[in-house]
Amino acid sequence: MTIISDKIVKAKKQHKCYFCTGIIEAGEKYKHQVNKQDDLFVFKTHINCNELAEKLKWYEDCWEGLSDDSFQESVRNEYHTVKGIPYNASFRKGDKDYVPFKDQLQFIINHHLIEKNNEKVVR
Ligand SMILES: [Zn+2]
Repeated sequence: MTIISDKIVKAKKQHKCYFCTGIIEAGEKYKHQVNKQDDLFVFKTHINCNELAEKLKWYEDCWEGLSDDSFQESVRNEYHTVKGIPYNASFRKGDKDYVPFKDQLQFIINHHLIEKNNEKVVR
């Protein structure tokens, strides 16, 4: 995989984060990376999601780039490790003590002291 461009840009419109599938709001800064494998691939993520992956070295295990599935799996594993509770992959919505993915992600971001970095454009 070759990185063609890699920058932090300000969103002109809403985008979807490749890693957590959450919304990147218009006006929010996000990571914009263009990769080339066979085809060009434009990769857009929250700054926090990227920082989390870098800080926890999740990129290092993935020679062809960290996939959305691996990211989400890593978040769930990390959440359960930090909380000290066994990770049951079959744990589902509706189960007692179910924690939505975005709450697990936010918890880990806070835990690793990654600053909330979604500065809005001031007009
Ligand atoms: Zn994200």
